[in-house]
Amino acid sequence: MKIAIIAHDGKKPEMVRFLMDHRDVLKRNDIQLIATGTTGQHAMDAGLEVERVASGPLGGDAQIAAQVTDGIIDVVFFFRDPLGKHPHEPDINMLMRICDVKNIPLATNPATAEMILDSF
Ligand code: PGA
Repeated sequence: MKIAIIAHDGKKPEMVRFLMDHRDVLKRNDIQLIATGTTGQHAMDAGLEVERVASGPLGGDAQIAAQVTDGIIDVVFFFRDPLGKHPHEPDINMLMRICDVKNIPLATNPATAEMILDSF
């Protein structure tokens, strides 16, 4: 099982806290994490094992979307900052669209992510 984690700057601390709070369930279910560059760095700094792609604004969301297309990623946690403006908005929309195309669970906030993890 592979979960992609992406968090906008204002949501990175929330993402790290969420992952740390759910460390046990991640381990128990042998879940691998893949992240956009800076989100992954934050998670690694907290002691988590994470595979990283490029930073979001440099194409990381597109790389994650490609892996969703290829069937490599099973779930996406994308904690978006609803109050921020992002230069890579087209990539963000594309990733969300690809999740819908492939029927891949996409959590855009911790409450939804929690429900997904609870289902394991
Ligand atoms: P980042 O990218 O983890 O490299 O900051 C996330 C994003 O903004 O899409």
